[in-house]
Amino acid sequence: MGDVTRDVRKDDVETVDLPSVERISGKGDLTRYRTILSNEEGGADALRAVDETTSRTGRVLSATGLNCLVSDAAADGRVYECTVRRVVRTMSRDQRGAVVAGDSVLFQPIDREHGVIERINPRRSVLNRGTKGKEQVIAANITQALILASAANPGLKTNLIDRLLISAHKGGARPIICINKCDLVDTVRLQPIVGTYARLGYEIVLTSATAQTGIEELQHLLKGHETVAAGQSGVGKSSLLNALQPGLRLETGSVSAWTQKGRHTTRTAVLHPLDFGGWVVDTPGIRQMDLWAVRPEEVEGFFPEFRPFVPGCHFPDCSHEHETGCAVKRAVDRDLISPVRYASYLRIISGADE
Ligand code: GDP
Ligand code: ZN
Repeated sequence: MGDVTRDVRKDDVETVDLPSVERISGKGDLTRYRTILSNEEGGADALRAVDETTSRTGRVLSATGLNCLVSDAAADGRVYECTVRRVVRTMSRDQRGAVVAGDSVLFQPIDREHGVIERINPRRSVLNRGTKGKEQVIAANITQALILASAANPGLKTNLIDRLLISAHKGGARPIICINKCDLVDTVRLQPIVGTYARLGYEIVLTSATAQTGIEELQHLLKGHETVAAGQSGVGKSSLLNALQPGLRLETGSVSAWTQKGRHTTRTAVLHPLDFGGWVVDTPGIRQMDLWAVRPEEVEGFFPEFRPFVPGCHFPDCSHEHETGCAVKRAVDRDLISPVRYASYLRIISGADE
């Protein structure tokens, strides 16, 4: 803990001065709140440092760089445009990831539309990945992760599903697998893979945003929950979310094709409240899913179908890759473990891209 604080102080000095609300406003009581630490690492002192009487609790709807949209937990969800208190930003080495969609924050309103985030409340759960050697939190405080794939165009990438399953489990969110674009294939062909995940106890839904199938089932699964929706781009995530709640009007593929013609749009995760209860965080399409802080020897723990066989391996530290006398490999040969899942396991432990 002491080390963290020291690092923060150092970072604070080294941080490039970015425009902050303190300077923009330059008046009033804001100077009182200068010495504020994020609760997550700052401990009890940080809790005391925030003026609880005037600050409000809110939910981060989206965060672009240092600007966030925060919905007031009370006040009918009034939305404030907030900057992030510098000392909160510097708690995170990667400043871009300091605040994410779904975060619960304490913020200080400046006027009816603007505010400053004073503290990020501890996250109950996250969906994350590794990028450029750092953790990127995709969304926070979700109870569910909707893992979206498509049956065709782009083809089903089970390895990406498996990586997202691991991230969801590790981060504390219940995974739901959704295979969209089922109108493009004979769904009988999907049965083996659907069966594999269903036998592992996962909720798996087949949908078509185009043909409007599986939408009610998905609504039922999302209703009243806090969900992050993640998947490769092009699987139909925007189309599906629009089908779930037509009022969302998210940009879909045809529109993105237009934006590719020279317009650079940085997409960011956005939290949308659902009319039928709960909320969903729409996230940018995942190009690469590196797992964050998952050691190779930990991976087998996320493959529950290996569990009955592991004790039968000749070597106690068997990686189930090249060892002789591996009971997991024997189970794959005898079709007791899905060869697709086993191949996925091998890719993950080898550190290869999905
Ligand atoms: P996103 O990148 O995951 O948000 O995907 P989009 O919703 O933008 O969809 C990508 C493309 O796939 C668009 O051209 C959609 O019209 C199309 N699409 C989306 N869902 C379906 C579906 O269920 N079936 C078919 N055939 N096409 C779909
Ligand atoms: Zn083994």
